[in-house]
Amino acid sequence: MSESLREVFGEAAIAARVAELGQEVSAHFAGRDVVMVGVLKGALPFMSDLLRALDFCPELDFVRVASYGAGVAPGELRFLMDLETDIAGRHVLLVEDIVDTGRSLAYLLNMLEKRNPASLTVCSFLDKPYRREVAVTVDFVGFSAPPVFLVGYGMDIGERLRRLRGVYELIR
Ligand code: 5GP
Ligand code: MG
Ligand code: MG
Repeated sequence: MSESLREVFGEAAIAARVAELGQEVSAHFAGRDVVMVGVLKGALPFMSDLLRALDFCPELDFVRVASYGAGVAPGELRFLMDLETDIAGRHVLLVEDIVDTGRSLAYLLNMLEKRNPASLTVCSFLDKPYRREVAVTVDFVGFSAPPVFLVGYGMDIGERLRRLRGVYELIR
């Protein structure tokens, strides 16, 4: 199997955009008490960088969802790990790596909404808006992504390549 990587977003461009997002998100919450919820595993590097670009310290929590199968094709969703925090009356910032069909995000938003947060805001590092199968609102987006399969900066192929500092198109 031959496989190559083509850089789509480099480390410097990511750092610059995440710094901007940090300011945008900070201005949006303006001193409110916020719970920052990362969607594991893909959002980990982005969440870590975004956290340190904020001008306030949110409480951190995590959820984990995965689709069946570890390959490229999306499948049915599995809810694997719940929050520890009671988000009722709290301002929630949900942090995603990438929104594609919107199915994972719609599922999570529906689940979180039922817990009556004061507000629910979504920040995704990448967005493929033209791929939507379910309408979802993404309040803050790092970059619009091209219609290719991406890896790096948290995104994987069969659990590989998450550690890459840039985002790459996987060419096979
Ligand atoms: P959705 O439910 O919006 O279709 O997909 C969201 C999830 O699918 C993402 O959180 C991510 O795990 C995965 N995904 C979507 N597009 C890509 C991609 O280009 N590369 C990788 N590695 N994962 C993707
Ligand atoms: Mg994700
Ligand atoms: Mg994956």
